[in-house]
Amino acid sequence: MQTEYLIIGQGVSGTFLSYYLKRENKSFLVIDNNYWNSPSKIAAGIINPVTGRRLVTVWMVEEVLPFAWKAYQEIGHELGITAISQKTIIDFFPNPFMRESFLQKIETGDKYVHAFPEQNHFNAFFNYELGCGEIRPVYTAHLEMLLPAWRRLLQEGNNLLEEDFDRTQLMLEADKVYYKDITAKKIIFCDGTSSFENPFFKQLPFAPNKGEALVVRIPDLPDNHIYKKGMMIVPMAEKDLFWVGASYVWDFDNADPTSAFRENTEQLLKQWLKIPFEIIEHRSGLRPATLERRPFVGFHPVHTNAGILNGMGTKGCSLAPYFAKQLTDHLLYEEPIAEDAGIGRFKKILMR
Ligand SMILES: Cc1cc2nc3c(=O)[nH]c(=O)nc-3n(C[C@H](O)[C@H](O)[C@H](O)COP(=O)(O)OP(=O)(O)OC[C@H]3O[C@@H](n4cnc5c(N)ncnc54)[C@H](O)[C@@H]3O)c2cc1C
Repeated sequence: MQTEYLIIGQGVSGTFLSYYLKRENKSFLVIDNNYWNSPSKIAAGIINPVTGRRLVTVWMVEEVLPFAWKAYQEIGHELGITAISQKTIIDFFPNPFMRESFLQKIETGDKYVHAFPEQNHFNAFFNYELGCGEIRPVYTAHLEMLLPAWRRLLQEGNNLLEEDFDRTQLMLEADKVYYKDITAKKIIFCDGTSSFENPFFKQLPFAPNKGEALVVRIPDLPDNHIYKKGMMIVPMAEKDLFWVGASYVWDFDNADPTSAFRENTEQLLKQWLKIPFEIIEHRSGLRPATLERRPFVGFHPVHTNAGILNGMGTKGCSLAPYFAKQLTDHLLYEEPIAEDAGIGRFKKILMR
């Protein structure tokens, strides 16, 4: 079989890369093993303009946020699904320090951090003694709808091979890629934490990070906001279901769910919520994070037909569409890749 591009992985990165190549009428084949707890399958899908305790504006927010909104709407339109929703975050202050920090941010005239005038509005649902503020605009990408819908379209077009990619079967020549009976021009790895062991890219400074979350049924909670108090409660596409999480752990033994996370989160929900809830599912996985918290995008300096779109860390839902488009434009029109994201910054390491 002949194809132009071989893509390994159909998480959010591989989905958007194949989407943009398809839009350019390029031929491609995606190989994905449908791993049940890949981060793209367990993420909340939050696209948030500010991050952390000090509500720092996220990297490239002015480019990435509007791009994501448009990209998910377009792919959703093509698939006949709602792939993204606009929300606001109601930030319940967990302690006086966080309240102070939020109020100071409002005073600076921050574009995304706002006062919430009706302080008693959520009294029927939550315990919150220190008040709340609002962050907007915020989006939720519905990966739980988007990934299977895109996968069906790939299957219908014979663009998907559902199997484990076996590195021992890969051979690269100057301008050709051979994998089993497939010949391609380029291979692009969008395989999340699997790239950590990839002989071409394993020298990149990856730093896997473990995250756990619960899926919880909360029938009486309005789904027009994301709620935050240390943890986030995020409305999911299915009615009455909310995603609750996540943990953020650098030091771990494996990717499995832990009873400690479940117990702590359940305890927190009991203290925070005034309405009934039921835990439906416990999810856990490894984020393909990087030491400098920037993605890895581009082609290998020596093996120039091997590329990577990875290292999305905690922000894959917003960064993946943007950098999938940049990589496509780089590939087809020699457009530059943002310096902070391009793997050109690791040229020396990759050439060792
Ligand atoms: C608990 C949690 C919550 C999160 N919440 C958010 C959030 O709200 N917002 C946000 O922006 N980000 C969030 N993230 C981060 C986000 O999930 C990741 O940045 C993003 O999903 C990475 O996508 P990816 O496609 O690059 O990699 P992955 O999702 O890892 O996709 C890789 C794909 O490749 C496949 N694959 C891997 N190896 C092989 C192989 N050898 N053969 C075949 N197929 C293979 C896998 O099955 C998978 O489908 C969260 C992560 C976690 C863990």
